[in-house]
Amino acid sequence: QPINAQGLRSAEALLHTSVMITLYAATGEPLYRNPAARTSAVSAEQTLDQRFNYQTLERLTDNSDNGEVKTVALAQTANSLCWHDITARRCFDAVSGEPAWLISEVDVSQLKSTEERAQFLADHDTLTQLPNRNFVSAEYQNRIDQILTAGNSGALMFIDLDHFKDINDTLGHAAGDKLLIQVASRLTGIVGDSISVARIGGDEFLLLLGPDYEGKFESTATQILEGVSQPMEIHGRDIVITPSIGISLFPQNGKVIDDLMKYSDLAMYHAKDSGRNGTVLFSREMSDAVETRITLEEELGKALEQEQFTTYFQPRVDTSSNTIVGAEALVRWIHPEKGLIPPDTFIPACEASGIIGDLGKIVLTQAAAAQKVWASQGHDLRVSVNLSPVQFGEETLVDDLLEIMLKTDCSPHCVELEITESFLLGNDKGTIAKLHELVDSGFRIAIDDFGTGYSNLAYLHRYPISCLKIDRSFIDVLDTARPIVELVIQMAQLFKMDVVAEGVETQEQLDVLRKLGCPEYQGYFFERPLEFDAFTDLLGKSGTMAA
Ligand code: C2E
Ligand code: CA
Ligand code: CA
Repeated sequence: QPINAQGLRSAEALLHTSVMITLYAATGEPLYRNPAARTSAVSAEQTLDQRFNYQTLERLTDNSDNGEVKTVALAQTANSLCWHDITARRCFDAVSGEPAWLISEVDVSQLKSTEERAQFLADHDTLTQLPNRNFVSAEYQNRIDQILTAGNSGALMFIDLDHFKDINDTLGHAAGDKLLIQVASRLTGIVGDSISVARIGGDEFLLLLGPDYEGKFESTATQILEGVSQPMEIHGRDIVITPSIGISLFPQNGKVIDDLMKYSDLAMYHAKDSGRNGTVLFSREMSDAVETRITLEEELGKALEQEQFTTYFQPRVDTSSNTIVGAEALVRWIHPEKGLIPPDTFIPACEASGIIGDLGKIVLTQAAAAQKVWASQGHDLRVSVNLSPVQFGEETLVDDLLEIMLKTDCSPHCVELEITESFLLGNDKGTIAKLHELVDSGFRIAIDDFGTGYSNLAYLHRYPISCLKIDRSFIDVLDTARPIVELVIQMAQLFKMDVVAEGVETQEQLDVLRKLGCPEYQGYFFERPLEFDAFTDLLGKSGTMAA
């Protein structure tokens, strides 16, 4: 009969194949093994649950629709644990008619280990053996989901080492590597293995803290701060490195790994800002601030295109004659809906987004053009323009400024560039060289907000400076600050510099400044910053005013 012949043939195949085939009773006792399965089994009695671990069994027996289930998993064989490609099928024992399991297995150990090795390398940092960023993006979301599904919560901890670059730069990369390995092992030591530690960048680590750590996130962070900053011996030297830590919580702050990473990173930056070697918990205000800044930066870009910036001018006045000798260019944003916006609210955003360079050019262009107009009317004023430290980072700064002077046909001798005092402190050779280039091109340099930057007065003559602008805060309290103001005026005379007192609001202040011999002043007492037309009118009416 054909059916018998078929049965015989399949029996032949069963005997000679390298595929291991076993029929298990529903209870897991073996009913039949083909020769390959027999060789592979630990003993004749090895049961289904002795062959596979719990998780594999769950998967294999999960075939409610009576189909096949396939998986690659570890099997306990006579030799060792081996990776098997396993197929399970629900059937009935031909002898007893009872339900049974037909399991076939193919040894894929060889394949599995190379594949695994490749996977491990792709997912792990070879230096510290910790999971890497790759692994984090693939795996952390699953873990977070599991924790959340179980109704639990957890935290993501972003750790960045303080001044790690210095170690690399001074002791070399080998020392830096050693340090990272030690930090990695300290981190895994502190948080044990119930959670995950990953290295996601040069000196950045990410910790996923599960429900075991609930309520202990901050104390764990403290433990890490203490543990990591213990001295470590590297190349015969005792090195101390401190971490800065940012924490985001799930589900409180979010449920998506990308968001949670962004938030913990943001919190970490706040930790750096507040002096490093500390921990900061993420708060909604931090991301709101970023949102606001991004929106502002976008708006500023548009404002630049649509020419919403205009320059106001505040008179600089000769103290004894009370005549206008100059004008400070002060930028204003004329917002189509919000109206006039003062610079303090948007200059930092312009600096952060890099459009300060373009803005500075606009202001200089308008200031130089104004200078030309006033000069043609017989008022030979010097205009001063504020330069942001960020602009000094631009390679082409000097050329850009000179090009504007050429285009507006204004001489650099009529322009004073204002830089802040703190800017001179600890600045590199490139910056100082640019300062000299500007001076050599004919520009004058003034120090703005003088007195607020703690610079050493005695060092001032080392820089090519023509003018000091005494900060408004001193003029505000001129009674108590009088000795300082007097000293600054005397120093300036010694170094042959101009002095301008800023923020003069009262007759009394002006009287004191006159007594102290301060040559120039600026302030609401004489006039507020004005639009170009208003300033031009003022010049026409009162080149000189009585005070
Ligand atoms: P700053 O360079 O110290 O400019 C002087 C500021 O003091 C101006 O504010 C001016 O309006 C204000 N002021 C003048 N006299 C008085 C007074 O008697 N009393 C008081 N309370 N204030 C007085 P403004 O125009 O809002 O500018 C603020 C700051 O924005 C400037 O401080 C400057 O650092 C920056 N800034 C303005 N325009 C520019 C620019 O074109 N480029 C750059 N990089 N920064 C600019
Ligand atoms: Ca200024
Ligand atoms: Ca100032």
